[in-house]
Amino acid sequence: MPTATLPSEMDALVLTGPGAFELRKVPVPEPGPMEILCRVHSIAIDTGTDSKMIAGVFRDAWGWPPYYPITIGHEWAGEVIAPGDGVFDFQPGDRICAASHKGCGHCRNCAIGRYTLCLNYGNEDRGHKQYGHCSAGAYSEYFSISVKSVYPIPGSLSYDEASLVDPAGIALHSAKRAKVGPGDTVVIFGPGGIGLLSLQCAAAMGAGRVIVVGRGERLKKAAEFGAETVIETAGKPESCKQAVGVVMKGGRICYAGVTLGDVPLPLGEITLNEIDVYGLRANPNTCPEAIALIVKGKIDLKSLITHTFPLTEFATGLETAVERIDGAIRVIIHP
Ligand SMILES: [Zn+2]
Repeated sequence: MPTATLPSEMDALVLTGPGAFELRKVPVPEPGPMEILCRVHSIAIDTGTDSKMIAGVFRDAWGWPPYYPITIGHEWAGEVIAPGDGVFDFQPGDRICAASHKGCGHCRNCAIGRYTLCLNYGNEDRGHKQYGHCSAGAYSEYFSISVKSVYPIPGSLSYDEASLVDPAGIALHSAKRAKVGPGDTVVIFGPGGIGLLSLQCAAAMGAGRVIVVGRGERLKKAAEFGAETVIETAGKPESCKQAVGVVMKGGRICYAGVTLGDVPLPLGEITLNEIDVYGLRANPNTCPEAIALIVKGKIDLKSLITHTFPLTEFATGLETAVERIDGAIRVIIHP
């Protein structure tokens, strides 16, 4: 590994406890076997998980983050610096984007391609990682990641856009889970980042009507993407129940947001109307497909990027994203 040109230390965002974080100098990691050391160029603040993990609200339910101090962050893109032992498909200088899941590779679910449901979830000794969740993440200048979790990106895609391939892949997985087909009517609750990407994926898969339910500036963005819009202010968990109310008999519902606690659903209607209910976990194998749709212009990531900040101004970036300051949709950090 060509360490001569690499600094020994780098800037990293370090969570020190619930609601507490600071910028620290930490050692630049070395890539292990089947890992790639990358320079992180762009990393997006995921308000669905990052901001809640920073606040500590996912610790009890999901173990995210599992310990302190830790660096998190998982929606990113960058450049290959040094492939580790056993990596043949990537060279220094290659441009890549990343996904958060690395399956163990040998459990039943990994074997059939459902590696986001790895049966060894959270067990690094058995080869599993979910970067920026139960394992350390990428809010840093350099990051070492499994070759299983990176994808090459074309030159036409900027690093800022490529940092959003991960959520685009999740949105595509949601449209595929719900079996969106030609002419279907699709209703999306919540015009956040995943909602706005899901509407584009539904359209890309041939949906006839796409209706987005929500409020605020983001609903205008949904209209710009060609969706019909309906205003409502209930938010979760009420919208989980409303979905059962609006779906047609025999229809399909996909729950994409990570919720906490018990959410009551009208099981009688689900049963008697033969409604298919799908859960959703990340983006198994859909990032390459999402990249193809982005290149074709079927998914517009540029319009979702409203703000960029250097890593040194992470706190301002986080506040901008969480408080939706100046119509913020996706805020990108540059380490
Ligand atoms: Zn597995």
